[in-house]
Amino acid sequence: MEPKKMYINGEWVEGSSGKTTSAINPANGEVLAEITLGTVEDARKAIAAAKESFYTTREWRDMDSQTRGDYILKIADAIDAERDEFARIDSMDHGKPLREAECDVDDAIHTFRYYASLIKAPYGGVYDVNEGFGKMHSFTVHEPVGVCGLITPWNYPLLMGVWKLAPALAAGNSVVYKPSSNCVLSSIKLFEIFEKVGLPKGCANLVLGPGGTIGNELAENNDVDMVTFTGSTEVGQSIMRAAAGNVKKIGLELGGKSPNVIFADADIEGAVEWAMIGIFLNQGEICSAGSRIIIEESIKDEFVKRLAERANAITFGNPLDNPDMGPLVSESHMNKVLSYIKKGIDEGAALVCGGERYTEGECAKGYYVRPTVFDNCTDDMTIVKEEIFGPVVTVQTFKTEQEAIDMANNTEYGLAGAVFTADGARALRVIKEIRAGITWINCYNPCFNEAPWGGYKKSGIGRELGVHGLEEYQEIKQININLNPGIVGWYEH
Ligand code: NAD
Repeated sequence: MEPKKMYINGEWVEGSSGKTTSAINPANGEVLAEITLGTVEDARKAIAAAKESFYTTREWRDMDSQTRGDYILKIADAIDAERDEFARIDSMDHGKPLREAECDVDDAIHTFRYYASLIKAPYGGVYDVNEGFGKMHSFTVHEPVGVCGLITPWNYPLLMGVWKLAPALAAGNSVVYKPSSNCVLSSIKLFEIFEKVGLPKGCANLVLGPGGTIGNELAENNDVDMVTFTGSTEVGQSIMRAAAGNVKKIGLELGGKSPNVIFADADIEGAVEWAMIGIFLNQGEICSAGSRIIIEESIKDEFVKRLAERANAITFGNPLDNPDMGPLVSESHMNKVLSYIKKGIDEGAALVCGGERYTEGECAKGYYVRPTVFDNCTDDMTIVKEEIFGPVVTVQTFKTEQEAIDMANNTEYGLAGAVFTADGARALRVIKEIRAGITWINCYNPCFNEAPWGGYKKSGIGRELGVHGLEEYQEIKQININLNPGIVGWYEH
């Protein structure tokens, strides 16, 4: 099997070490493809190509924004034309049910279209100012940052990259993109599209390989002007340290342990359904997962009974056949999730359902874990404190509104959170108290291109999506014009 290659300076190349790795289908352990493995030397070549493209040839950077926007639209159209193939690739490579992969591809198409339209729209501020120096006019222009290193995780293989690539390219930057080694196939296909639509040489580069070497190089190299990262908080911290050398701009989208607060007056059936979407969508491999259910004591037993019934009814199977749930991304990740489940039991949480691998029929060869609900949990338990990134939810109870808020905020993370209640004033009161960047009232997990996405506390720095998502990849320059040129007379006073 010829290995899939990296895309550096407009060419498909193999890694300088000559080594390869295998893309594994987590539903059955079969090899999907061989992938070339890049090295630090390859990352440096890609950075040099991006630097040349941004600072010397300048074709992409200097292109007028209408034409650049047209290229971004062409990318969206080309993905749209191959929507089914993209979805099939992510479903097989990652393990998510096909219909979820289709939603991801639709989101990716919309993200490119959204940033094409934003970059085509007039933007910037103009101010009339009058101060000590006389009448002045002040306005702002937005400029690309320069060479951007983009690093992503495996849970949304295509989409996490697109949330960065679309605004970074629309803004006129040159980029070096490194997806997670676990799932690279849809990123390779995306770069085939970049080549097909004719992006100028060197403005978009793809490197493949281990984060500890290649990813770290993107964070550390002084020729990189900005690094944006989506992934675990631990790696995010190491990126911050590595980026200090040239005080790079950074964007960090990190982990979460998000509260789902449910009051007794909530529509219980709706709350159960949304709690399922909150924790079991994408096998629970979602940064914003509602992994901590915090529920008013009086309805807890009824809620947990219904949630367990629904969780036990979840179907498994080959992701391409659209079961409710697919396998976890890899054997090692499955083992990590199972070890958290064991820890939950050891630390005294009550296992209500799940808690083990699912091995029926053809699933025996895959990395499936049953949806797991733990009752009687307390704030000091490992499964309540740490991000598990799998289909595991904890349940805790409260008696008062303040107790619910305190419990929701008793975490190092601050990515997401939700409140379920029929009382509108209480919903707003509580959601405003939750220290998190993405929140929902009477729903869980919907996300939109137009709205900014990002975390408080150890869940990150900056925002993706929306207008903020474009501004992350722009420098904003203030230009001040003196409307009365001549002698100011400052020193005569
Ligand atoms: P990870 O941190 O292990 O890896 C993420 C990326 O960083 C990968 O490409 C990896 O190769 C690279 N990397 C690893 N070590 C590195 C280093 N020292 N320097 C630079 N890069 C390095 O995370 P993961 O297991 O791929 O993904 C799961 C995590 O991602 C979870 O914590 C999840 O919450 C988080 N996530 C956050 C968001 C968000 O929007 N906040 C979205 C999706 C996933």
